[in-house]
Amino acid sequence: MKPFLREKIPAKLSEIPEYTAYEAGYLVTGNAGWRNIRPVINKEKCVGCLQCYLHCPDGVIFKKDGKVDIDYDFCKGCGICKRICKPGAIEMEAEK
Ligand code: SF4
Ligand code: SF4
Repeated sequence: MKPFLREKIPAKLSEIPEYTAYEAGYLVTGNAGWRNIRPVINKEKCVGCLQCYLHCPDGVIFKKDGKVDIDYDFCKGCGICKRICKPGAIEMEAEK
């Protein structure tokens, strides 16, 4: 499936697709081996605004139960999601 332009910006969160990367655009090998910090979502603070989901450069944040979750197999630990999260629901923690 090729990327396409939408005629209008989705008005409702439910109209935003489940994932930000289309199938052919996914990374094919896990890259977590070189990550030394990882984002951790505090579900209590998360308001489900989807800003992290929309800004993650690798499309590894996905919608789940009205909030979001992270695919750690492909997250590179860049921290953009933490910076974009206004409610402060994401903290970067050291890999163990
Ligand atoms: S930006 Fe923060 S509050 Fe919004 S969905 Fe992501 S984790 Fe939740
Ligand atoms: S740390 Fe970077 S790659 Fe990982 S979920 Fe956040 S924005 Fe995406």
